[in-house]
Formats: sequence, structure tokens, C-alpha cells
Amino acid sequence: MAGKEAIKLKLTAPTVVKSLLAQYELRPSKGLGQNFLINEHYLEQIVAAAAVTPAEVVVEIGPGLGALTRALAPAAGRVIAIEKDERLQPLLQTVLADLPQVELLLQDALQVDYQQLVGEARPAKVVANLPYYITTPLVTRLLEQEIAWRSLVLLVQSEVAERMLATPGSKEYGLLGVMIQCEYEVMTVARVPASAFYPAPKVASTVVKLCPLASRGALPVSRAWLWQVLRAAFAQRRKTLLNALSANLPLTKGQIKGALLDLGLKADIRGEDLTPEQFIQLAALLV
Ligand code: SAM
Repeated sequence: MAGKEAIKLKLTAPTVVKSLLAQYELRPSKGLGQNFLINEHYLEQIVAAAAVTPAEVVVEIGPGLGALTRALAPAAGRVIAIEKDERLQPLLQTVLADLPQVELLLQDALQVDYQQLVGEARPAKVVANLPYYITTPLVTRLLEQEIAWRSLVLLVQSEVAERMLATPGSKEYGLLGVMIQCEYEVMTVARVPASAFYPAPKVASTVVKLCPLASRGALPVSRAWLWQVLRAAFAQRRKTLLNALSANLPLTKGQIKGALLDLGLKADIRGEDLTPEQFIQLAALLV
């Protein structure tokens, strides 16, 4: 397909997606979580939620056939699209040919050093229709780095969105939600039915937006220590927090009990009952 013809195509049209795949002799890979967005309405909602400006650099994970990349590019100063599937390179190079602000990086997003990639130069945002199989490790990797993300707009499985949004005491509340909520506010942007993708996945999806809390730059402890405490707290879910922390951190039960009492918490409380703020306070007392 000539470059100009490919650029003019509506990349969310199911017929276009199917004919592009056929033309480049590609079959969507289940293993790589390739469920392409074929609904313009949800694409627009993602772009609107990201509200990208020319001053910002956008990191897009998994451009696929380039639909979201093309939609983001006009407003962005720079888009770095990271795609693991090298088979998509010829197609993406054609589809993105007229967009000099888009950089295609053929890499595993789980291996990328985002600090080095984004640098200090610009404010950065993440926008992605994420491959389901890497959601948790990828979000963990994006958030553990010292990058002042302005926001992250992510299309994820609804079940994962529920874990990101979960409140203390609920069944879904766990490590992922607390890690995020210690520094970000999580909002639902849209529920996306399986029919909005080709091929359709088995489950529904949700677009979430993560915005940094005002306190994000001012954690009283290092993120590394906070996350070590969180990982220890949720390592054994049925244990009390006291037992889970003492089994997984170089601290005595006396030290941990003292910190819990200082915070006005019972010694037999479980990790899933603490708010993110209480975890931050606890981590600060346990340094
Ligand atoms: N952005 C496109 C869209 O919305 O239609 C495609 C989204 S599709 C759910 C996920 C994309 O992520 C696929 O293109 C897939 O090849 C890519 N991908 C899967 N694993 C990846 C990884 N580890 N690093 C980078 N990209 C990956």
C-alpha cells in the first residue's frame, strides 16, 4: 500500500483493520494481547482524557496498527510509541510516515528504562491500550521510576481497573491498588465493551486515568522502602499485618507493634484494612 493511501485510512474501521492485517500478512497475536480498538468513540474518549499539549511527550505502549498513535500525535510535541512486535514495523512505518513527531521504538516495554527515555526535559504522559498480560508489571515499572508523570490514561481489563480503584476492606483491595493510590488518584473514564476490539477479548475493559496527588513529590519515605513495606504487607494475605511484615522485613515484632500502636491501629489488623495514607505513615515509622 502506498504511504499516502495508508495515512488516509480510518484505522478504527473494522474493514480497514482486517484489510491492513491481510495486506501485511499478519494475524493478531493472542500471546501479545493484540486486541485492536475498532471504535472511534472510545478512541476519542482516551484522547480527550489524555488532554495532551504540544509541550508534552507522550509515551504510548503498544501502538499496534497505529490508531491511537495517529489520534494522539496532532496535539503532542512528541510521541514515543513502544511496540514489541517487530512484524508490525513495515505497517507502522507506513501508517505513521507523515508524523515526524512520532518515534517508533521496537522494544519490550517491560525492559525500557523510562527515566532515560523521557529524561527531565519535558513533562510526560502515558497513554496506552495495554496488552492485558503485562498490565501489572508494566504499571509497576512505570510508577516505580522517578518520573513526574502528568497522567497515565490506560485501557485495561475491567477486573484490573477494579483493583486499581479498590478501597480498604474490599475484596479487590491489594498491592496494585495501594501502590498506585499512595501517589495517584484513580478515575474511571469509560467502560469499554469487548465488541469495541478486533478480535474481541473475552472480558470487558475500562479506561482509567491516574493523576498524581499533590503530595506525590513529597513522600516522607523513599518509594523503594514504601514499596518494600507494601510488598511485605501483601505477601501473605491471610496473615495479620504484624506477622506478614515481620516475616518479610528485617524488623522485630516489637518494632512493628510499636509503630502500629503509634498510629492508633490494633496489633491484629490486616494489610487490606489500612488506607494508602496509613501505609505511608507506617512505612515512615518503620524506616
Ligand atoms: N494501540 C493499539 C490499539 O489500541 O488498537 C493496539 C493495542 S493492543 C491491546 C496491545 C499492543 O501492545 C499490541 O500492538 C502488542 O503487540 C503490543 N505489545 C504486547 N506486548 C508488548 C510489550 N511487552 N512491549 C511493547 N508492546 C507490546
